[in-house]
Amino acid sequence: MESRTRTERDGSVRIRLATAYAVGDVNCFVLPGDPLTVVDAGESAAAALADLEAGFEQLGLRIEDVEQVLLTHHHADHVGLAHQIHERSGCVVAGQRLLLDYLTDARAQRSEETEYHVGVLERNGAPPDVIESHRALQVKLFGGVESVLVTAPFDDGAVLEAGGRRLRAVVRPGHSATDTLYVDDAGGVAFVGDHLLSDKSSDPLVWRPPGPEPDPGQRDSVLSLYREALAQTARLDVDLMHAGHGDPVEDHAPLVASRLALHDQHCERALRALAGPPRSAYAIAEEIWGEKVRQIPYDLISMILGSLDLLRTAGSARVELGPDGAFLYAAAD
Ligand SMILES: [Zn+2]
Repeated sequence: MESRTRTERDGSVRIRLATAYAVGDVNCFVLPGDPLTVVDAGESAAAALADLEAGFEQLGLRIEDVEQVLLTHHHADHVGLAHQIHERSGCVVAGQRLLLDYLTDARAQRSEETEYHVGVLERNGAPPDVIESHRALQVKLFGGVESVLVTAPFDDGAVLEAGGRRLRAVVRPGHSATDTLYVDDAGGVAFVGDHLLSDKSSDPLVWRPPGPEPDPGQRDSVLSLYREALAQTARLDVDLMHAGHGDPVEDHAPLVASRLALHDQHCERALRALAGPPRSAYAIAEEIWGEKVRQIPYDLISMILGSLDLLRTAGSARVELGPDGAFLYAAAD
């Protein structure tokens, strides 16, 4: 059987952990040295724990030896086992300050996030049965979520000792509201979570804005924020990026350029679909993707809203409020 554990050229060790998500395995990185550090912690599930334990055993280590867990963002496939690692080792759990809101009561936060998604789908014309099945799927996925107390919250720019290196924390919301990069400037290496993946575009789902009871009629233009974040990342002076899924990114600037070009293509496709009377984002998505929108409505609505936001910023699209409170989009006059 192929090993799930691999030592990378900078000396970090990547352990692939199974997940229940469509994305497949998630990477957990072990930084041997002082303090013994783990970057990201899989989902809370028996299969992921078994993979993690097998990886540690291969390294001659135990989970009880971990001294620090660093978190790249709040998504369940990256934080689920952090609580258990902390329980068994007494390690520090470090992450940017906003993660306290997301992870201290992760299930409550997740259910608020789901309700926000429902609101966004309603305001963008999704039919009730599609919304209900999206809600049911989210509730099912709550299984991989587990709360964890971030014992060492930090702010953007914090410098952390980890596995004999110094890592600079760069808070860079984009793929999610809590994205954090850990940059080893001396070694020319960064741990980037899902901010940039080698084999797929990690465009953001429309996220629930931090803070109490946000109005689903108000949302951040998450794709625009992500593109700004990516442009900054393209200028980062490292030659190896360890990502949350898949192989490391060796040459990040051209990869960022290709991601930005893909967004431009999506905009062109959205603009073609805007001919005719004003329509909801759901109706536009249905025209582009057909039946597929019923299966993954939130992913595709997020994608089309990202394109529509960029088109509006460029002056090529406009939005109005329909009679039932749904947003309707059309080409600008
Ligand atoms: Zn992920």
